[in-house]
Amino acid sequence: MNKKSLKDLSKILSKDSFITNDLDRIAKSADAGCYRKIPQIVICPKNEAELIACLKILHRDGIALTFRAAGTSLSGQAISDSVLLEARGDHWNKAEVLDGGARVRVQPGITGLRLNQILAPYGVKFGPDPASLNSAMVGGILANNASGMSCGVHANSYATLRAARIILADGTLLDTGCKESKAAFAKSHGGLLKELQLIREDILNQKDQKEKIQKKHSIKNTCGYGLNALVDFEDPFDILLHLMVGSEGTLGFISEACFDTIPLLKQRASSLVYFPNLRSACEAVPPLREAGIPAIEIMDRQALRAVENNPGIPAYLKDLGPEVTALLIDLLAENTEGLEAVIAKTRKILEGFRLERELEITTDPATIAAYWTVRKGVFPSVGGMRKPGTSVIIEDIAVAAEHLTEAAEAMRQMLDELDYRDAVIYGHVLDGNLHFIFDPDFSRPDELKRYENMIDRLTSMVVERFDGSLKAEHGTGLNMAPFVLREWGDFLYGIMKRIKKAFDPHGILNPDVIISDDPGLHLKHFKPMPLVDETVDPCIECGFCEINCLSEGYSLSARQRIVIQREIVRRRKTGKDPQKLIRAFREPGDASCAGDGRCALTCPLSIDTGALIKKIRSQANAEKPAAKFLGRWTAGHFRSVHRLIAVGLGMLGFMQKLLGNNGLKGLMSGLRQISGKRIPGWDSSMPIRLPQRALSQATKDEGKGRTGKRIVYFPSCINQAMGPSFDSRHDRPLVQVTVDVLEKAGYEVVFPENMRNLCCGTPWESKGFPDIANARSAELETALLKASAEGRDPILCDTSPCVYRMKRVMSDKLKIYEPVELIHDELLAQLQPKPLEGRMAFHITCTSEKMGIEDKFRKVAASCCTDPVFPEEVGCCGFAGDKGFMQPELNSWALRKLKPAVKEAREGFSNSRTCEIGLSRNSGLDYKSVMYLLDRCIS
Ligand SMILES: Cc1cc2nc3c(=O)[nH]c(=O)nc-3n(C[C@H](O)[C@H](O)[C@H](O)COP(=O)(O)OP(=O)(O)OC[C@H]3O[C@@H](n4cnc5c(N)ncnc54)[C@H](O)[C@@H]3O)c2cc1C
Repeated sequence: MNKKSLKDLSKILSKDSFITNDLDRIAKSADAGCYRKIPQIVICPKNEAELIACLKILHRDGIALTFRAAGTSLSGQAISDSVLLEARGDHWNKAEVLDGGARVRVQPGITGLRLNQILAPYGVKFGPDPASLNSAMVGGILANNASGMSCGVHANSYATLRAARIILADGTLLDTGCKESKAAFAKSHGGLLKELQLIREDILNQKDQKEKIQKKHSIKNTCGYGLNALVDFEDPFDILLHLMVGSEGTLGFISEACFDTIPLLKQRASSLVYFPNLRSACEAVPPLREAGIPAIEIMDRQALRAVENNPGIPAYLKDLGPEVTALLIDLLAENTEGLEAVIAKTRKILEGFRLERELEITTDPATIAAYWTVRKGVFPSVGGMRKPGTSVIIEDIAVAAEHLTEAAEAMRQMLDELDYRDAVIYGHVLDGNLHFIFDPDFSRPDELKRYENMIDRLTSMVVERFDGSLKAEHGTGLNMAPFVLREWGDFLYGIMKRIKKAFDPHGILNPDVIISDDPGLHLKHFKPMPLVDETVDPCIECGFCEINCLSEGYSLSARQRIVIQREIVRRRKTGKDPQKLIRAFREPGDASCAGDGRCALTCPLSIDTGALIKKIRSQANAEKPAAKFLGRWTAGHFRSVHRLIAVGLGMLGFMQKLLGNNGLKGLMSGLRQISGKRIPGWDSSMPIRLPQRALSQATKDEGKGRTGKRIVYFPSCINQAMGPSFDSRHDRPLVQVTVDVLEKAGYEVVFPENMRNLCCGTPWESKGFPDIANARSAELETALLKASAEGRDPILCDTSPCVYRMKRVMSDKLKIYEPVELIHDELLAQLQPKPLEGRMAFHITCTSEKMGIEDKFRKVAASCCTDPVFPEEVGCCGFAGDKGFMQPELNSWALRKLKPAVKEAREGFSNSRTCEIGLSRNSGLDYKSVMYLLDRCIS
């Protein structure tokens, strides 16, 4: 890329939107597919004006670019070795609900999950429903014409799109919903509109070709351009708009789109139906389809086998016959009568089939969830079980209903003959959409040949035998580009080339995607998959973790951390010095990882990248004598650490009295700058020193009441050192409040011996000292076993992250509660709290989420306040133990959406003291433990 282009781009974009460093370029090289390209630069324009200005420069200089939304594509269409343009995140994720929910206008960087959250109160949802909906963004969904189990071709982007703001390769903006914009466009780009009309005429003049388009688009088809736009619409603006659907960023950028929504049907039933074999399962699909069943998913025997050992999977799966194939049927209706009618219809149809197990159609949400656990487990299980270092490939074909059975059988036969015997077949059979997954090892030359052979056979089978789609929903990408000609034939492929030329004459938009002259393109650019560590080796870089990774957009995301670690290993193996990359990784990769493990919650393979980062920290510590010394010293002199904290907080309290809040804040901010950010700043959400009498008083009263109903209370070391915030310094300390509440509930409170020396080990675990962490938790475990009479009495610890670790590493004999769980399971019934009036904000910590107590949290909140609010877009707070003191920027980034979401709330409540500091700091509310709330409700 020439210097002038770079200079001109850098003038338009802010520093953080113009990325040229190696680390970030490599980090962004991957989408979810099996290919990789490293962009020369990554640009992230923040609005249309910036984007248009960038496009004009790239167009002027003939520089290729690729757009990216969430980067979850599977066919290699969201990667670039030139310019990667990202449009996601806070600048591109607005949505406006129109006409009482009938329509919605959205920006391209909003996820399907968020969009549906916004639409849900209106009783409607977004039409397209790819399985990746939670992570995928509207720009990518629209540009791939992505679909899922029930939207078929009737509610996908093509069917529901009404208007869009489109920016062409030359930077021209067209708003198809605006008369003036269309008029201006007709003047400036009359040639493009004329060409579209001519193309349409050429197609209409060839009846067989027109019918071919109609037939091929009567089923799902994302191979090549959506030529149906030229048949279904006459107005060139409508044609242009609908050609954008499925164009994979090769025709222009969609900066806003207006969609019709579809009704959200709330009454649901499901059934997992087992047929003797693939054939009989497929044969049941047409009658079910005719009966209007909204979703039918197939899983062949290999797919069922892949999930049979997963948690929550019915045990009988292992005993099914060798060819048993399941259909998962979803039934939906507006009301119960409607649902009963569909259930009856379904029963009647299935009566005509031999089933391996008795038919059970359930409306029980837990059973429905269990059925879907089977289906959702297929991809992760195959991905997780694959041989280390191999790729995961998902093929994605569709055939018309009448060919489904034959096609499924032919597919199985082909896979067996090519010795892909473990490949699993599953898919959305309602729409004739079949997937198969296998795990080739592209580092072996013979594997490449086998893959080439497979794609060739697949193409012949799908195109020549069944006249189906080579890509039903995942997009053509560079993976299928060499085969578009075979699927569509010379005439229609020629039409596609004309379309590309008319929109993008210089061919700068996503070159080689959809249209390519390279017949071997699908066999190049494979992603290297070197082994890094068993914790992350199964990762396919799909990016599903990113919606839960708090540093995404701030530094690196969990996926990007893995990509970089793989590149480091690759460099080592190929003799290239990785040191520069290792150094570059430290701050954005290591230091800014909260290690909260939330990435694992949305990862299909449950990969906790935080665990890898902790291992990296541990390896780094092993090489640093000073770090090792500090780790050991703090563990061996815990009382002294407490005293130091107490002295520090005491001094701050004294200074605050002298200087006031603003004075102390300014002073500490200055000192922080001078120290190179080595000391924390200060604000009034910081804690005061815990008055020592608080602990002494609490422990002195130990065993008060002697009711015989004992509970062991272990205040976390944080709550033994830190008092309430400066803002609420007149409150009683948490330890006292907790003891009072427990006693009101009739408990005799006892404390573990030598409590002030005890810690669960979390601080050392997160800093990469696993041995010290384990020794510390073992010490605490011994004390808790003793205090609880070997687990007879329950134990309360007042800090959620500590309980999360304690539950993981300590004996099962111990019944350990964190506050919310204890309140929910025991205290609510005993204390019958009277809910306080007004709106209160609640924060579910990431460890509460990982312990699966969100519902209990919500119930506790609803029992203690009349208007609880749980901000939807706020996940982990990013305080991450003590990181929030030293890296408040990460904490502020993680909580950037908190303040507007809680603006009408009076107070905030959570279950982790350090999280509460960060929450208070970033919301303007005073956050404290839920124990305070309960205490007030029973006073
Ligand atoms: C585990 C897994 C399951 C999946 N399941 C499904 C499924 O069920 N159905 C399905 O259809 N797909 C599925 N996919 C594929 C993929 O998630 C979808 O196609 C998704 O819609 C891509 O969205 P994205 O935001 O990630 O887009 P990206 O991957 O970022 O981009 C997709 C394409 O859109 C272009 N693009 C992005 N933004 C714009 C824009 N604003 N304007 C113009 N072009 C743009 C890009 O250049 C690229 O060509 C799955 C993927 C994975 C990893």
